Amino acid sequence: MLEDLTPPARVHTCKVRTIAEGLSETDRAIFFEAVDNPTWAFKTLSNELAKRGIVIADNGIAKHRRLQCSCFRS
Ligand SMILES: [Zn+2]
Repeated sequence: MLEDLTPPARVHTCKVRTIAEGLSETDRAIFFEAVDNPTWAFKTLSNELAKRGIVIADNGIAKHRRLQCSCFRS
């Protein structure tokens, strides 16, 4: 009965990656490009994405761009 009792996975997934996974290939490319583009201020990008129905905090974008998210940890 307890076969599946395992400690909860410490999921600390990157929001950028999570959102990208739900996008089409085309959208994903555009999304990643914007996320990595220093011309986009984090807050501005966050707001513009929200207008298009994608909710991501500027902090999440910042972490990914600064390589501080889980995408870059092994
Ligand atoms: Zn990431």
